[in-house]
Amino acid sequence: MKRFWLIIPLALCMFAGCTGTVSEQPQTNSFFAMDTVMDLTIYGNKSLLADVETLISDLEEKVSVTDETSELYTINQTGTGTLTGSAAELMQSALAMCQRTGGALDISIYPVVRAWGFTTESYQVPEAETLEGLLAHVDYTQIRYDAETGAVSVPDGMEIDLGSVAKGFVGSRAAQYLRENGVDSALLNLGGNVQTVGCRPDGDPWKIAVKAPRGGTPMIVLSIQDQAMVTSGGYERYFEQDGNTYWHIMDPATGRPAESGLTSVTVVGDNGLACDGLSTALFVMGLEKSAALWQESDDFEAVFVTAEGDIYITAGLESNFALTEDHQDAVVRVIER
Ligand code: ADP
Ligand code: MG
Repeated sequence: MKRFWLIIPLALCMFAGCTGTVSEQPQTNSFFAMDTVMDLTIYGNKSLLADVETLISDLEEKVSVTDETSELYTINQTGTGTLTGSAAELMQSALAMCQRTGGALDISIYPVVRAWGFTTESYQVPEAETLEGLLAHVDYTQIRYDAETGAVSVPDGMEIDLGSVAKGFVGSRAAQYLRENGVDSALLNLGGNVQTVGCRPDGDPWKIAVKAPRGGTPMIVLSIQDQAMVTSGGYERYFEQDGNTYWHIMDPATGRPAESGLTSVTVVGDNGLACDGLSTALFVMGLEKSAALWQESDDFEAVFVTAEGDIYITAGLESNFALTEDHQDAVVRVIER
C-alpha cells in the first residue's frame, strides 16, 4: 500500500468555478421509484421536475426485475431478449464496471441477494450448499451483450439486476438533461445516491453529509459541485442472527456479505454510474485494493470508514472534506498517489 498521511481535521475550502448566484425559487418533487424515495430540488422551471421523473420511470420500466412487462424481466425469465434506449446504455456501462472492478461488482449476483432475503425482507442465512449452487450461476463474463442491437443472452440459471448502478446512471442523465435546459443549480437525492448540478444558489458548493456507521448522525461533510456522490454502507440494510450481522453488500467470490474491514465507502466523481458501482465494489474490495484502484484511476475520489471508525480519504478530497462537530476526534488519513 502507498503512504497514508495522518492529518488534522480540515477546514472547508471554497471552490473556484461557482461564482454566479441563482435567483429562482427552489422547485421540489418527492416520489417513489427504483425501490427508494427520490427527492429533487431544482432552481429552474418547475416543468423540468416532471421531465426528470419521467426519465427515471422510463428507465425503471425497462430494467425492473419484478415488473413482468420489463425488458430485463423477459431476459431473466427466458435467457434472452433486447434492451433498448437508456437500458442498453446502462447495460453496457454496467458490464464495463464489473470488468473494471475485477468482478467485485457483479450484476449477476441477484439470486444470491434474494437467497439472503434482501429482496423481500424475509431474512435468512442460506445453507452453504444453496449458496454453492447459486454461485455457479454468478459470473458477469457469461453475459452475452451485443452493443449494436441491444440483444442480451444469459446462461440457464443466471439472472441480472442492474439496481447496483441504475440510480447513479439515471442521476447523471437527469443532471445532463437539466444542464441542457438551463438549470445551473440542482440537488437530486435518489435514495442516497446524490447528484448535484452546479453549486447551491448562493454560489457555495453543496455540502453533503455521510452518516456515522453507528447512530446514523452525520459524521463527515463533503463539499461538491456538479458531481455525483454515492455511499454504500453495511449499516444501510442488514439483519442480525445468532449474534452475527449480515448486510446487503455481497462478495461475489463467496456469496456472503462482504467482510473487508470497511463499514462505508463514499465515492465522488463526474460519472454517477461509476460512483454508484464503485461504492459497492470498493466496499467488497477493502481498503488496500481500493487504494490501488484509485491510484490507477483519474475519475473518482473516495472516503472510507473502517470498522475501527478510522477515516481514509483520497488526496483529491482533502480540501473538500470536514468532520462534523461530534466527530472531531476521529482519525483521518490521506491516501496519496
Ligand atoms: P443501494 O441498494 O442503495 O444501491 P448499494 O449500492 O450499497 O446500495 O448496494 C448494492 C445493491 O446491489 C444491493 O442492495 C444488492 O441488491 C446488490 N448487490 C450487493 N452486492 C453486490 C455486488 N457485489 N455486485 C453487484 N450488486 C450487488
Ligand atoms: Mg450502489
